[in-house]
Amino acid sequence: MRYVSTRGHAEPQSFLQILLGGLASDGGLYVPERYPAISRDELASWRGLSYAELAFALLSRFAPDIPPPDLKNLVARTYTPTVFCHTRPGENAGDITPVRALEPGLYILALSNGPTLAFKDMAMQLLGQLFEYTLARTGQTLNILGATSGDTGSAAEYAMRGKRGIRVFMLSPHGAMTPFQRAQMYSLNEPNIHNLAVRGSFDACQDIVKAVSNDLAFKARYHIGAVNSINWGRIAAQVVYYFKAYLAVVEEIGQEVSFSVPSGNFGNVCAGHIARMMGLPIRRLIVATNENDVLDEFFKTGRYAPRAQTVPTSSPSMDISKASNFERMIFDAVDRDAARIRELWARVDRGEGITLAASEFARVKGFGFVSGRSTHANRIATIRKVFERYGQMIDPHTADGVKVGLEYREAGVPLICLETALPAKFEDTIREALGRAPERPADLADLESRPQRVEVVEADVEVVKQYIAAHV
Ligand SMILES: *Cc1c(COP(=O)(O)O)cnc(C)c1O
Repeated sequence: MRYVSTRGHAEPQSFLQILLGGLASDGGLYVPERYPAISRDELASWRGLSYAELAFALLSRFAPDIPPPDLKNLVARTYTPTVFCHTRPGENAGDITPVRALEPGLYILALSNGPTLAFKDMAMQLLGQLFEYTLARTGQTLNILGATSGDTGSAAEYAMRGKRGIRVFMLSPHGAMTPFQRAQMYSLNEPNIHNLAVRGSFDACQDIVKAVSNDLAFKARYHIGAVNSINWGRIAAQVVYYFKAYLAVVEEIGQEVSFSVPSGNFGNVCAGHIARMMGLPIRRLIVATNENDVLDEFFKTGRYAPRAQTVPTSSPSMDISKASNFERMIFDAVDRDAARIRELWARVDRGEGITLAASEFARVKGFGFVSGRSTHANRIATIRKVFERYGQMIDPHTADGVKVGLEYREAGVPLICLETALPAKFEDTIREALGRAPERPADLADLESRPQRVEVVEADVEVVKQYIAAHV
């Protein structure tokens, strides 16, 4: 299995070769040269597998350059009930991603049982193991520099805490995160985790990360890397739970199901697209956006026009104006014509909109994609409805997925809505919807009162560089 760039001008690479990197050298994204095909018989034979066993079966197709015993060991250490400890009482803790029926044919896929209560743990926890493994083999070290407005940074820190050869320097906007998010990150006391609260906005944090990454000499000298959402390892890890949910829901292998996915950077639903390309019988991939609806516009019209502005919403992890993984799916939509991607993304990279040709857009539709958008009022109403009707509390992002998913529900086709975070992370919105605080996992009851460790710094590239230089 080799990986090729969507822009066609980079050398094909193996899984381990692209694991620590970001974009390909030609600016494209790595994708498998062809998707591994999973037959019906094979799918049927996977029914009784544990999450870790299924992850091994699938990931060994994507990463044949990792010796199988090593890969088996890595996934077994990742997908355990100790790491994914937030399943509910009464659920089989070994399921890792339980499927909850709201009513016959309508399901929530619980993906947020990891340490940071969001689905990003599903991939990031594996990445932590994979990074430590590959760095140890090559004797390298890695200093991960990132910017976060909340979820991604904490998922990265919980995945990399205590890992040998890895340090994390995470920039967050000083005073802008919720008390829960702050406590989650700043209460980590591992010496390899460095939280820098920047006196500035999230954009200011991101600009600093970009500026440091553009200083190639500094980047090379201090082994600076990232764990952003275009990382192929994250996408590959996410393919697994589509298969797991399918096997949990269907009575007969071959029957079709639909998935509804709260979307931002298009990483989660891109994994669903890949699962479908591998042969998983998926009827529809329902892309749900919030008020930042650049993806909804695309799936309705064929026009993709990244926005200059992102509006802050009550499903903040979907507040994006440009979907960084989108190019991977479009590569398939243009029948893997890298020259066409170069032509289209020359415009996207300049901030201009693009419109697919009719035949290309027809392929997108053939992949099963449909979409919809949700607003604050929809979100509140959906949280309320699901709580009143089914007694289940869902978070604002999951609510966007349920709202849009129900608009496309079809008789006889199971609808699986992906839960991307637990409600405990978004207390204000839950209070607005339900007039009460969200349930919180018992192990996090005292989170905000734990000692916190954070360095407050000015929004200044040199200050951040000096901090890194002094702490490696
Ligand atoms: C990251 C995130 C999303 C969006 O996922 P993408 O892979 O970026 O599309 C949705 N919901 C929550 C809670 C998230 O943290």
